[in-house]
This record gives sequence, structure tokens and C-alpha cells, in this order.
Amino acid sequence: MDGRSGEKIHENVDAAEIARFAAMAPIWWDRKGVFKALHDINGLRLDYVNARAGLTGKRVLDVGCGGGIFTEALSLAGADVTGIDAGEQPLAVARLHMRQSGLRLHYLRATAEQYAATRPQGFDVVTCLELLEHVPKPSSVVGACSRLVKPGGDVFFATLNRNLKSFLFAIVAAEYILGMVRRGTHSWRRFIKPAELNRWAAAAGFVFEDLTGLHYNPFLRRYSLGGNTHVNYLMHFRKPVP
Ligand code: SAH
Repeated sequence: MDGRSGEKIHENVDAAEIARFAAMAPIWWDRKGVFKALHDINGLRLDYVNARAGLTGKRVLDVGCGGGIFTEALSLAGADVTGIDAGEQPLAVARLHMRQSGLRLHYLRATAEQYAATRPQGFDVVTCLELLEHVPKPSSVVGACSRLVKPGGDVFFATLNRNLKSFLFAIVAAEYILGMVRRGTHSWRRFIKPAELNRWAAAAGFVFEDLTGLHYNPFLRRYSLGGNTHVNYLMHFRKPVP
């Protein structure tokens, strides 16, 4: 699982995506760099997850944790946090930053599918943010998240919707006009409609709890949570107790 560099760690991993994030990893924590958007939305997404799942004292798994922006926030909110990622470089950055922050988190290299075999029902809460749109078969990740969470536990996904508006905002505006995200970061075809995610989640045994939009206002340069799910959105599911 903790594979060596260059090793193919799982079939549901796009090597080109891993390489793209590896190249950007050294500036993961630069608040004005290529991951500025992730830094800017971090407080909002933490508030959303905390309000719905109550993080203090919970065992939380962050799937596709990258350099640890959200993972550290979960820890600061009082959770016992594990972060997994398929890429080595983002994890190296996450481990280094954790030491600088004086936090104790567990980081390891794995996909959700691999880790589900090691730690089934191991977590009260699973978060999987901005990952599904980078994976060849996102429904497989959703299924793995269901195996990782305890019955009665909460799972959160954040991703990008697929429609004309998301093409204009998330690709044309964000990557080409405003330069908010590095060009080529996202492939519009991999974006996911909430109804699709809901279908995969239902097939994985989840009960739908909530859908909320994460909206960027380019004039005010501010993000807000709300009903507009046309571009970025968050979804909350619960795994029922049998
Ligand atoms: N969740 C973090 C980082 C999102 S960037 C945040 O929102 O702040 C996407 C991350 O997913 C990258 O670090 C990339 O290496 C990782 N990744 C891509 N495919 C993956 C897969 N199949 N399994 C696990 N991690 C993956």
C-alpha cells in the first residue's frame, strides 16, 4: 500500500492526475498560489462538515487529502484524523507541514479502495473533497467510502457539477480568464452531476442528508454556501445502522 515511487498503486488511479498534483505539491500551502481556491474555501467546508457531523473526538478519514489543507483543519477542530492520498509528493508536503503546525495526524499512501480492505468501518466520518472529478471510476471511491465508515457515520463529498455553466465558470473563467486554478487542473467531462453522485451513493447503501452549493462571486471575490449547486457543491450522506 505504501508503494514505492512510480509503482502503480491501484487501477482506479489516473497517473496523469497524480503527476499533475505532484508537480504542484511544493507550493500546496502558498495561500496565493495554485491552491489558493482550496485555501479560500477551507473555512466554509470545515464549518459545513462540523455543523453536520460534530468533529470533536471523532475518528475522521480524509480521502485524497493532498497537502493537508482540509486534513489539518479537521484536526484543529478536535478530530482524530487520518489522511490518505495516492500521490507521494502531496503526502510528503502534508507530513512536513503537520510537524511545522505541531499537530498529530496519520498520513499514508493509499486509495480509498485499498484502505477499505485494511480499516473497514474504521471511521465515524469520511470526507472526500475535490477528489472524485480526478478519478477514472468515481462510483468505486464512493463504494469504498461506504465500507470505511461505521454504520451511523457521516460521509461528505465535494466536487464539480457538469453543465454549461460549470464549463464556463470552472474551466473558462477559473483556468483561462481569472487564473484562479492552473490550466489543465480539471477536465470538464469528469465533472459529476449531483443526481449521478446520489445514485452511486444510494447503490453504496448511503442515505442522502443534504446537498449545498459552494458559490464564488468573482466581483466580490468571495465564496458562500447556499442553494446554487451549478458549479461547486457539497453532499452529505449517512450510512444507516442496519
Ligand atoms: N482533498 C484535498 C486535495 C484535493 S486535490 C482538498 O480538497 O484540499 C486531489 C488529490 O487527490 C491530490 O492530492 C491527488 O494526489 C489525489 N488523488 C488523485 N487520485 C486519487 C485516488 N484515486 N485516490 C486517492 N487520492 C487521489
